[in-house]
Amino acid sequence: MRGTMFFIIFAKKLVTIFKFMLHSELRPYSPYLLPIMEEFYSLQGEGFHTGKPAYFLRIGGCDVGCFFCDVKESWDASKHQLTNTDEVIGRILANPSKAVVVTGGEPLLYDLQYLCHQLKEQNVLLFLETSGSEPISGQWDWICLSPKHNHPPLEEILSLANELKVIIYDDKDFEWAEENAAKIKGNCHLFLQPEWSNSQIMMPKIVDYVLQHPKWRISLQSHKFMNIP
Ligand code: SF4
Repeated sequence: MRGTMFFIIFAKKLVTIFKFMLHSELRPYSPYLLPIMEEFYSLQGEGFHTGKPAYFLRIGGCDVGCFFCDVKESWDASKHQLTNTDEVIGRILANPSKAVVVTGGEPLLYDLQYLCHQLKEQNVLLFLETSGSEPISGQWDWICLSPKHNHPPLEEILSLANELKVIIYDDKDFEWAEENAAKIKGNCHLFLQPEWSNSQIMMPKIVDYVLQHPKWRISLQSHKFMNIP
């Protein structure tokens, strides 16, 4: 019995390694092994789906380089454990919400087709958080696009976004918000979110702006107020 179990585990590892080798000729990372920085079950803190429970998957790696980034430790993908995607999928399926938020880093640095396909087969709701700096992969129920000056979003992501969430650090970000809002499709929800470290200064300005431009709504990082991840 123990021998059979050992053989099954060994065979599964061999299959994973084989898939990785096959794919690594085409891309630097395989869809079957992703550099996962952290995973946790929590509530969505920001944007349209604020307050909804979901499993969060943070994939390491980002080359956008925002100075206000609050997950700078995610930038270097090599610092994060390459994790078997099937194992991750198993943990996502075990959470009660049947919803996953894939975030980063910049998750679209990776081929997410396999992850999405396997989860969709199990009717999991798929939410993506991206800067839009890389081509889309995977099928998503909801795309939250947070465009960044350093690396503006690709046209294809602007046309797919369900939610545009612009981080407001200073006055010029209002222009950046309008510039992006002019490019998205009609039924995309528009949010302005104060950058955390400068929110005391910018919050009154954002309130005034939304009062004058009612197509926008305000998103707050409510998870920080709730003291949850
Ligand atoms: S795109 Fe996101 S993860 Fe990347 S540097 Fe900017 S805030 Fe950080």
